[in-house]
Amino acid sequence: MEFSSKLLENAVYEMSQLPGIGKRTALRLVLHLLKQPKEQTARLANALINLKDNIKFCKSCHNISDVEVCEICSNPRRDESLVCVVEDIRDVMAIENTGQFLGLYHVLGGKISPMEGVGPQDLTIHSLVEKAKQGKIKELIFALSSTMEGDTTNFYIYRQLEGLGITTSTIARGIAVGDELEYADEVTLGRSILNRIPFENSLKV
Ligand SMILES: [Zn+2]
Repeated sequence: MEFSSKLLENAVYEMSQLPGIGKRTALRLVLHLLKQPKEQTARLANALINLKDNIKFCKSCHNISDVEVCEICSNPRRDESLVCVVEDIRDVMAIENTGQFLGLYHVLGGKISPMEGVGPQDLTIHSLVEKAKQGKIKELIFALSSTMEGDTTNFYIYRQLEGLGITTSTIARGIAVGDELEYADEVTLGRSILNRIPFENSLKV
């Protein structure tokens, strides 16, 4: 792509670094922003900078939060003996929308992926195991997508928890359509949480 302006080229380059945004889409978005009043673009830029500067992650579940301990973790009506292990905030939002889960979450921040250089130490697994050792967790529900990375991550955590007397279960297979939990409809997702199966059983398939 040949640009008549270095400023334009830089903006398009930065925009195209976002996931799913190719050079053409980046150019379209940048030209759109260029037509907007300056205040509009400033609001977008400020919102992003503000987000990066001030965002917090819940000390307990690692979900994105505006406070130290998120609203879910600090809600006395939630069942702290039941913890659902998810990849990121989108899964928390999807499961919360079902209204079928009253336990707590643990947000891993990704999945183990040797291909992408993501190891257990890059995720919040250590913190999950430490929490499990405190003895409050009775059941852990794996709700990662059914990909090889999801399976690897589940199994890794499962092995780390051995001997702690914690029941592990997984949401029904085939629910996570197209790899992403967030795309499963609420009724199906809610049902798969209620009808979860023991993790050991999922290993035999
Ligand atoms: Zn939390």
